[in-house]
Amino acid sequence: MDIVDSATRSRMMAQIRSTDTKPEMAVRKFLHASGFRYRLHDRKLPGSPDLVLPKYRTTIFVHGCFWHQHEGCRKAYTPATRKEKWAAKFAANKNRDRKALQALDEMGWNIIVIWECGLNDRSQSVLLDWLVDAIRQPARSYVEWPVPDRGSQG
Ligand SMILES: [Zn+2]
Repeated sequence: MDIVDSATRSRMMAQIRSTDTKPEMAVRKFLHASGFRYRLHDRKLPGSPDLVLPKYRTTIFVHGCFWHQHEGCRKAYTPATRKEKWAAKFAANKNRDRKALQALDEMGWNIIVIWECGLNDRSQSVLLDWLVDAIRQPARSYVEWPVPDRGSQG
């Protein structure tokens, strides 16, 4: 049973979406101030990467943990109502993300994914140092921030 009507729900979803863009703005401002030049939301590339740095053949995605279901992240919860709908929506999002990253990788692009939970004030300067290195000296074709903790997985 729905506890909110559809108008209220779409208003709630619009709010979630708009806060979703804030982390992206922080990354953009920093990169621009640091002298990096980029294109935004390039629709010619798979997944329309949030930022494209042609000089470094690098794409950057700033992902909201909720919409893109950041694994192991407390922001990646499923709302209590309409669980099936959310689950289907999240599965579609993840599938779309995976296909886009794979296609970009095959085209020879480096990929950087920044999750919004890694963009808090405390970690911001560490992130920005990491980001500059990831762009200038890519160690692998795919990296993400926060760097996943693989210690417990053997
Ligand atoms: Zn997260």
